[in-house]
Amino acid sequence: MKKKLLISVLLSLLIPVTACTPKKQSEPVENVLHTQESSQKKEESHFEYDDQKSWKQVSGKMQSPIDIPSSLVEKMADGGAIQLDYSRKISEAKNNGHSIQVTDSGTATINHRRFALTQFHFHAQSEHTIDGKYYPLEAHFVNQAQDGRLAVIGVFFTEGAENKGFQEVLGDVSDGKKTEIIDIESMFPENKSYYHYLGSLTTPPLTENVEWYILKTPVDVSKKQIEMFEEYYEHNNRNSQSLNDRVILEHDE
Ligand SMILES: [Zn+2]
Repeated sequence: MKKKLLISVLLSLLIPVTACTPKKQSEPVENVLHTQESSQKKEESHFEYDDQKSWKQVSGKMQSPIDIPSSLVEKMADGGAIQLDYSRKISEAKNNGHSIQVTDSGTATINHRRFALTQFHFHAQSEHTIDGKYYPLEAHFVNQAQDGRLAVIGVFFTEGAENKGFQEVLGDVSDGKKTEIIDIESMFPENKSYYHYLGSLTTPPLTENVEWYILKTPVDVSKKQIEMFEEYYEHNNRNSQSLNDRVILEHDE
């Protein structure tokens, strides 16, 4: 009698516990590998607020430049239009040891957001590629928002007619002129369709979270002009970086 009572007391204590403990099922063999992977992920996402020094900072996964596989891009959901109001009056054009760099001002309105142009410079050959294709030259127009965010507009140059603005920049560098009016419009295609992705600066410190807008339509530059630039820099383009899990968007005008 006593023994029976003890058992029923024990059972009543056990039942609620077992009731809220999920039934342990034997794991199917094919899940074993998957479980190992997810436990690894669990370790990576595990963190303690009392040990914040050990938190790992992820970087290096959003680097630029990249190759743009045109068949893998997604249509941009936003309107996305780019409007440029760059100054024709530059304040400096110089060989800075890494590129020909021009200090300029003006604004770029990108998808209704306002950026100020700080400088532009050139790379030979291009840094970005489309389906693996390089262009002989790529210009980078570096813009900064009021909150510090960077947006770089990339323009490809393809061999063809002489480019007036680029010629004036080359002339200013060799003459050592400080202030000059240049035909900046000639360095932009009329059609401002572009590819957009999040990347980095392509020179140290390679800071990430830079917005890239790579114009699809190239502008002309003559063979002679390419050779003139190559006298300064035959090769000032960073190698292509892994896309990793980034998305490339496109905006078509
Ligand atoms: Zn650049």
